[in-house]
Amino acid sequence: MPNEDLYQKLLNILPKENILLDEPMKKHTTFRIGGNADFLIIVSNIKEIKSVVKLAKENNIKTTVIGNGSNILVKDNGIRGITLKLNLKNISKEEKDGNVTYTCGSGVSLTQIANEALEDELTGFEFAYGIPGSLGGAVYMNAGAYGGELKDVILETTYIDKNGNIKTISKRRA
Ligand SMILES: Cc1cc2nc3c(=O)[nH]c(=O)nc-3n(C[C@H](O)[C@H](O)[C@H](O)COP(=O)(O)OP(=O)(O)OC[C@H]3O[C@@H](n4cnc5c(N)ncnc54)[C@H](O)[C@@H]3O)c2cc1C
Repeated sequence: MPNEDLYQKLLNILPKENILLDEPMKKHTTFRIGGNADFLIIVSNIKEIKSVVKLAKENNIKTTVIGNGSNILVKDNGIRGITLKLNLKNISKEEKDGNVTYTCGSGVSLTQIANEALEDELTGFEFAYGIPGSLGGAVYMNAGAYGGELKDVILETTYIDKNGNIKTISKRRA
């Protein structure tokens, strides 16, 4: 599909300001290196992600997902197709039987979650305070430090598969 056609189709599902053309990836990676992405798309809700994933699948367009860009190096000739930057920033909390569960969007930073836990006087997430990156990237990488890892504190992950379907994986208990 020519880029102009793709751009027009993307405009039907996303605000114009969230579709960045020929975007230098050095602006989106911690190491400040990398060539340009054909389309860098910033998505901030599930409906938008589903629509973009379906569009990419229907038109056979390569899609690359990034979070905060703290663990990726982009090559000098950039990224073809769609680069999806997941920017879901929701946080909600539920207390039951003395336990507090957070539900967070993949774009929330680990530092923000650690700060929320501090405010709520909860323990268990201190290890993640200094790790740069988003929750989505940290889950994908199983980020860890000081003896703690994401797998120790995650109960359930909701994701969107390559066909645009929403799925959930629960942590298997030992
Ligand atoms: C100075 C520095 C210190 C660091 N210290 C640590 C440390 O102590 N411990 C540690 O574990 N790591 C550390 N890292 C690495 C990095 O912080 C982690 O890997 C972090 O989890 C990456 O998150 P991100 O959002 O930046 O992901 P990105 O770098 O954007 O992406 C990393 C990978 O995750 C995938 N991904 C990102 N978001 C999603 C999503 N929502 N859904 C599906 N896939 C996704 C991407 O496709 C890519 O493959 C450090 C990095 C730096 C620069």
